Amino acid sequence: MEKLCNFNHEFIIVHLLLFASLLSFTNPTPSPTQDEQSQIISRFQEYLRINTSQPSPDYKKSTQFILTLAESLSLETQVIEFVQGKPLVILKWPGSDLSLPSILLNSHTDVVPSESSKWDYHPFGAHIDENGNIFARGSQDMKCVGMQYMEAVRRLKASGFQPKRSLYLSFVPDEEIGGHDGLEKLAQSDVFKNMNVDIILDEGLASPNENYRLFYGERTPWWLVIKATGAPGHGAKLYDNSAMENLFKSIESIRRFRASQFDLVKAGLKGEGEVISVNMAFLKAGTPSPTGFVMNLQPSEAEAGFDIRIPPTVNAESLEKRIAEEWAPASRNMSFEVEQVKQFSLRKKWHSVRIKGWCTMFSGSVSTKFCGILQYISWNQYDYVLWFVQYFVLLIPSVI
Ligand SMILES: [Zn+2]
Repeated sequence: MEKLCNFNHEFIIVHLLLFASLLSFTNPTPSPTQDEQSQIISRFQEYLRINTSQPSPDYKKSTQFILTLAESLSLETQVIEFVQGKPLVILKWPGSDLSLPSILLNSHTDVVPSESSKWDYHPFGAHIDENGNIFARGSQDMKCVGMQYMEAVRRLKASGFQPKRSLYLSFVPDEEIGGHDGLEKLAQSDVFKNMNVDIILDEGLASPNENYRLFYGERTPWWLVIKATGAPGHGAKLYDNSAMENLFKSIESIRRFRASQFDLVKAGLKGEGEVISVNMAFLKAGTPSPTGFVMNLQPSEAEAGFDIRIPPTVNAESLEKRIAEEWAPASRNMSFEVEQVKQFSLRKKWHSVRIKGWCTMFSGSVSTKFCGILQYISWNQYDYVLWFVQYFVLLIPSVI
């Protein structure tokens, strides 16, 4: 079994073999032969080699690739472009009892950009090193999951398994830039309504060891841009209320907050998913000159952008208050904008994507399987519809 290692680099090692072993645990299918294993890996590599990085993902190729795989599995296929050039591929394995609500396994096809010069191997080469590690952008986020869905279906089909509920697989575009032209439009559509989805499995994180980690929620991203303005001034003078000074006061305050949250994680008092993370994404200031920046001028505007992630247990109003009063107060000539990724409603009674925590599941443990079922039942009662599960295969036979 391969392990995730070296988090410093932008590559991953994927657990395709792990998935195979899960299947053998949950379903009486034989372990894949050496030949089958290498086919699984090749298919995965093929997907990784399609450059679907933002801002210009090759959706044509990824769509074709997914459709070819779907055909080999005799799945029903549908390609929808709510926005031209941004295809959603929906695959269906019809269940034996069509009166039952369905299961949706979602993954996104796009990946974040990469700086290939900083990679040990080309980000779209899907190189396998001598330890079996696969290097590629999107290998973790989240082409591995999309492929695990496919391989799970392949093995379940090969074993003669027939689901009672219909199983859908969706491959959606543009998740990395907010999902507005992808999943968001699907969730608002009649197509989605007609799918009658009861449970969705989506993205998680790879496991750095041999435990199966189950994620059942997601923090909400807030993208905050704070802007400071002030009178421009000569670089030799000390002024109060300059744009840079005001921005720095805010950055210091945000940094203190960030440290306080991080301390909770470091002390083991809270999990990473239970605190508000704040990371600076950009700083924009200065008066450009032909050779760089004007050095003897205090600029009249300065901006900084932050990626903030908020657990559902946190009171969003208090954070809004903090932003307005401490991080970008009008009293310091500051303004701010927050882009919140909408928690759109999938069904009236099931609203918003939330985290309640996480649990580590152990391979081979009988309780693991029941943990999945029990949590499904209790979370469902608490309106938690979306699961973010790394090793969903473990759960499919339980839920179906
Ligand atoms: Zn992702």
